[in-house]
Amino acid sequence: MAKFVCSCSHIINLVHSPTSEQHTLIPTKVLYEALLSLESNKNSGESCWVDNSDIDIFFNYIDTHQAVDVIKCPKCLRLWVHSPEKKTYESFGKEKVS
Ligand SMILES: [Zn+2]
Repeated sequence: MAKFVCSCSHIINLVHSPTSEQHTLIPTKVLYEALLSLESNKNSGESCWVDNSDIDIFFNYIDTHQAVDVIKCPKCLRLWVHSPEKKTYESFGKEKVS
């Protein structure tokens, strides 16, 4: 997906993914499980607590456990949540207070 057009007409460039408009919605339980998985694979000799293989493990874990792609429009703050069933994004706007 090279670009995404929001309902407010703002165009979001997604060519160089990941962009600041792209987010991943992760169930908290899955996030903790993924971090515990990394902890169990941690090499105590590493200066950084994760290396590239840890990052792959992390993303593979969350991708197979309900992670949801979200695009946030910086102009109108609308959230676009990816629906795997519909293979498209569904919009969620800020509720208006009357
Ligand atoms: Zn928008």
